[in-house]
Amino acid sequence: MWTICMMLLIVITSGSWAEKARFDNYVVYRLIPTTKNHLDALRILEEEPDGLNFWKSVGSMNSSVDVMVPPHKRADFHDALRNLDLEKEVFIQDVQHLIDSKRPSDNPRTDFNWNSYHRIDEIYSWLNSLSLTNPGIVTPIVAGTTYEGRQIRGVKISYKSNNPGVFIEAGMHAREWIGPATATYILNELLTSNDPNIRYIAQNFDWYIVPSANPDGYEYTHTTNRLWRKTRSGGPVCHGVDPNRNFGFHWMGGSRGSGCRISDGLRTHLVAKPKTISCVSEGGASSNSCLETHAGQSAFSEVETRSLAWYIWSISRKIQVYIAFHSYSQLLLIPYGIDSERVSNYQQLLRIGHKMAASLARRYGTRYTVGNIVDILYVVSGSSVDWVKGSIGVPFTYTYELRDQGRYGFLLPANHIIPTGQETLDSIVTLLHETRLSP
Ligand SMILES: [Zn+2]
Repeated sequence: MWTICMMLLIVITSGSWAEKARFDNYVVYRLIPTTKNHLDALRILEEEPDGLNFWKSVGSMNSSVDVMVPPHKRADFHDALRNLDLEKEVFIQDVQHLIDSKRPSDNPRTDFNWNSYHRIDEIYSWLNSLSLTNPGIVTPIVAGTTYEGRQIRGVKISYKSNNPGVFIEAGMHAREWIGPATATYILNELLTSNDPNIRYIAQNFDWYIVPSANPDGYEYTHTTNRLWRKTRSGGPVCHGVDPNRNFGFHWMGGSRGSGCRISDGLRTHLVAKPKTISCVSEGGASSNSCLETHAGQSAFSEVETRSLAWYIWSISRKIQVYIAFHSYSQLLLIPYGIDSERVSNYQQLLRIGHKMAASLARRYGTRYTVGNIVDILYVVSGSSVDWVKGSIGVPFTYTYELRDQGRYGFLLPANHIIPTGQETLDSIVTLLHETRLSP
């Protein structure tokens, strides 16, 4: 009995039940494709990565691509680049070293702050505490459920009735830790800041803030694999679906009207039984369950996206502004991601977007590029913002790819959380001023 107790104690105090994935001597390279040959070759590599991990996917000519390469693949990778006459630059010399130097403590913290990244339970306890300390203003919300049975939790902030609504979604991709951290930073500022601009937007809008839209994946990045991106559902071969490829607007669509497009009505997707559809990955999404952009068996096949979509649908009359936080690259993105066709108010979103980027740069000089998803990133189908814009019709919809530009990538040190939160909130103040939704 004593031995069993000791073994249990060792497992518990070791901080996790599972072995953590290690990335010793994994290198992240930056590549700039400058010819069609480069692009074609990189696309083939991305579709059959064989151990490579594309941190930043292949986009257009002269757009950077970041690839993490394991040590046993390095020689082959160098040979391939040499054959392609494609230059490389080392951005991260040893991924594991960076993970180890930035790893938050495994011990649960009692205080909640923005000097470190937090586990999902710590975030949820803090959210709970807010409704107790701000009665009548902060209401807990459950915006969905997950494959592993967690709730997708958030809060609503409302100082008065009849305010237009702002929805902030973060953490859809598990490894992008700066997203949840920025969302909670902004939430805290809305409740505590004395800055008149922040008080104004706090009190004249209703806020729906969901810091972690993929809590199973987020927790998995803390316990098991720091670089996990997808959900944790069981797949035919590999685990997980990219939730930001699983929403039901031109799911796996490629160009409009082609490929695997199925009808776009929310109800059709949500009540339909999942269908198995095999599609080529022409829409910035893949039917291969082992790839990072696996779109799932059907639109809304994942309980996370299905339940979150129901929640958004339930408050859709309120929501005028929808903001999604991702990382990294410092981009402010306007839908759609499926092709370069513009949304009807594209010019307005672009004009406001440039003002947002100017406000964001003012504090620390952080430079963002503003534009359509396809133009400045790459083709993405089945994203939440495309669905929110295209199916729900929310007028002001933006995606942030937060700090940095790749020197740390997903492993952004925690001392960036507060400056990222501050500058991002500066840009949201400008956005809400420019929408003229509030008197
Ligand atoms: Zn992302």
